[in-house]
Amino acid sequence: MCAATNAPPWFARALVGMEVGPTGAQFAGGKHAPDYAANFNGRDIVRRAAAANAEYLVLWVRDGEFTFHDSKLLPRPPGQRNRDVLREAVEEGRKLNLPIIAYCQLQYPAYELRQHPEWKARQANGEPINHLACFNTPYTNVVKALLAEMLSYGIAGFHLDMVDQGFSPPIGCWCDHCQSPFQSEYGRPLTKDINWEDEDWDRMLQFRYATSDRFEKMLTDHVRSLDPRATVDFNYHGNPPFSWEVGQKPVLHADNGDFVTGEAGP
Ligand SMILES: [Zn+2]
Repeated sequence: MCAATNAPPWFARALVGMEVGPTGAQFAGGKHAPDYAANFNGRDIVRRAAAANAEYLVLWVRDGEFTFHDSKLLPRPPGQRNRDVLREAVEEGRKLNLPIIAYCQLQYPAYELRQHPEWKARQANGEPINHLACFNTPYTNVVKALLAEMLSYGIAGFHLDMVDQGFSPPIGCWCDHCQSPFQSEYGRPLTKDINWEDEDWDRMLQFRYATSDRFEKMLTDHVRSLDPRATVDFNYHGNPPFSWEVGQKPVLHADNGDFVTGEAGP
């Protein structure tokens, strides 16, 4: 054990930081895809964040389509020409003593869902939801592998975003990975009706919250097993106007990380 193990975590001395991603990151570049993130440069971002007196940097590393590190699991945007933005940032951050937190989007994983359509969430009528992954499928293993790759760079922690189960219709999930454990646990099928008077709907919600909770705990345990010093925070989406669909309870959700961040529309 080295002496640094007992040092306070990075966030104990950091008050204000910045989160930086490439323009269009929420749409993985969208119509600008050919040039998307071409100038996104980890070294320059770290230098400018430090010059602006940021005390930590949350760097976008994974959006819904691409990643900005050298990954065996996900492609990088073509415009980056195989640059490793995370490496650039970590190396510069080390020089400037700026903690680098990797931003990772976990829901809406377009690339993985094209490779594995069986990981898509399903509506009550059995129809797949093309943009939404089910957190009870082996998709969770890809997330763990991806976090392990990023952790090997020596980052200070993760900002894990979009740990939601959808915000609005179409709603999941009635896939086999959900129906089967629900049947085992409750001895009855998942109700297909949203009915706030119905105890089966309460059971459905309990199962939903437990799914999110299990996924988050799995990731936190995984990260801590690989690097006990690395922090994990999950962005919270349960505030209005978001509602039950996301599958997050505030205290349960916050307790799964080292601290919590929140997001609301208004
Ligand atoms: Zn499911």
